[in-house]
Amino acid sequence: MSELKVEVIPDGTVIDHIPVGKWLKVVEILGLTNPNGGTLLIASNVPSKKLGRKDIVKVEGRYLSEEEVNKIALVAPSATVNIVKDYKIVEKFKVAIPDEIVGILKCPNPNCVSNHEYTKPRFRVESREPLKLRCHYCERTIEWDEILGNL
Ligand SMILES: [Zn+2]
Repeated sequence: MSELKVEVIPDGTVIDHIPVGKWLKVVEILGLTNPNGGTLLIASNVPSKKLGRKDIVKVEGRYLSEEEVNKIALVAPSATVNIVKDYKIVEKFKVAIPDEIVGILKCPNPNCVSNHEYTKPRFRVESREPLKLRCHYCERTIEWDEILGNL
């Protein structure tokens, strides 16, 4: 299974270099757990020169929004996104965590104003390695495992 070769898709998006075990989170972020979400090809625990082992998610017939790419960056900062058209990779880029994360992550502080008023949650990146964010409203910091739980 580890040598599983992933077939090329005709059109869609290939998300490569996902940390092992994080493919499910990526699939959830993209809303691909519903039946109309597009054909999904997953390869987990694939040998990788860069990471040792990695997961790959291929989505047929679907491209990603900027917000989805930013969310993926939070769970898989090492990921690369390949846009495929007509069996060819027409675009390839590395995901990047933006300096400010707006609207995609809930603040874990129950008293935070962003959880009570119609305010989009807003976080500043305080550190990237390891990932640590700070809420713009209540100043609470949020770390990796909490980030995953609040996406
Ligand atoms: Zn907050």
